[in-house]
Amino acid sequence: MERQSEKKPHPEDVAQVCRNGHLVLSSLQRFPQFRKSFCEDCGAHTIDQCQACGWPIAGLGPNSWMGGGPFKPPNYCGECGSPFPWTETALAAAKQYTDDLEQLSPEEKDALKSTFADLTSDTARTPLAASRFKKFTNKIGPAASSILQKIIETVLTEAAKKSIGL
Ligand SMILES: [Zn+2]
Ligand SMILES: [Zn+2]
Repeated sequence: MERQSEKKPHPEDVAQVCRNGHLVLSSLQRFPQFRKSFCEDCGAHTIDQCQACGWPIAGLGPNSWMGGGPFKPPNYCGECGSPFPWTETALAAAKQYTDDLEQLSPEEKDALKSTFADLTSDTARTPLAASRFKKFTNKIGPAASSILQKIIETVLTEAAKKSIGL
């Protein structure tokens, strides 16, 4: 898809992230010599733009360091709203894992799976999703819930993490 970028300036710098969501390089424009085609942690291809619309993934510009906190790859494209590959992978893995849980009925599995997307974006539904998620983690027990939390932890919003108690 071709999208004209004249209306809006591109991000100050561009980040390179692997398809599994590992940050490879947070300032591609300032340090192009550190560009990598594959992730050193997992071997996946790296991307530096939205696969749906081509908008660059915002990295850390020269002034971003003052914002504090480590760089976290975004869950969704800020331009077209498409989930990034790591968000899709985490959601799909969490759903697969839920399907394998013997402690839950099919209806309960569907209810638990329906909370995941709301936990990856801050909406009015996030607190509701977090409280349902928590209820289910009590039901499936600490071992299974810690695996499930690990699967989606990287794409949870800060608000969702707080509500769940992570
Ligand atoms: Zn990786
Ligand atoms: Zn996009």
